Amino acid sequence: MALQQSLICKGCWQTMRVPVVLRGVLSAPFRVVGLRPSRMNPNTCTLCELMFKRVMKATKVTMDATILFADLRAYTSLSQALSAADMASVLDAFYDECAGAIWEFDGLLNKTIGDAVMAVFNFPIKQQDHARQAVLAAREIQRRCTARQAEFAELLGRTGMEFGIGIGIDSGELSFGEFGRSHRDLTAIGTVVNMASRAQSAAAAGEILVTGAVYQRVRADMPGGTAKKYQLKGFDRPVELYTA
Ligand SMILES: [Zn+2]
Repeated sequence: MALQQSLICKGCWQTMRVPVVLRGVLSAPFRVVGLRPSRMNPNTCTLCELMFKRVMKATKVTMDATILFADLRAYTSLSQALSAADMASVLDAFYDECAGAIWEFDGLLNKTIGDAVMAVFNFPIKQQDHARQAVLAAREIQRRCTARQAEFAELLGRTGMEFGIGIGIDSGELSFGEFGRSHRDLTAIGTVVNMASRAQSAAAAGEILVTGAVYQRVRADMPGGTAKKYQLKGFDRPVELYTA
């Protein structure tokens, strides 16, 4: 599905009311000075990626945000059972659908890590309801991947495996910015990131697990949401997670 592409940078418009043109002939002068669509969210620009540096005059900021991890299940067994070319087409489909869904809800596709993607909501596009936007994006990832099941049915049928995605989400204060000195990496760190990653590991194929912090914010969209306790790696006590 084609992404609804914004003509101007949503981030720059929101924070500075400056129309940074991303596409078409009018984008030429912006490209000359190095402003182009961000690879992490093509509806924002390369300036936005480092907005906190200019605006906050810091290389790292503490902010309230939502982190989403989505992971392609059975990746290791799949990569053993499939040819490299077939595996690449499965991974491409997974990345494309994750990216499309995350961008549809104004999230930042921060990283792709092997068989997983990590997204940040509430940067650079500010979202009052970032937890809700992340949950909607997660549902859209599941919907899109389910829609593509048939395409891979024959391929995966041979392996006896499914094209299944597990998703975990957490919200709260985290540290966002540039980390590392020799290799600068723009990313988020903190307990929220670890928790979202662990929740993702606990999720079954087709499942979305969110923390209590997310549930508190998204309650209205999760009628009948019930908690189950999970023993997550790296956390001493069992953690309550909700199915979204
Ligand atoms: Zn921008």
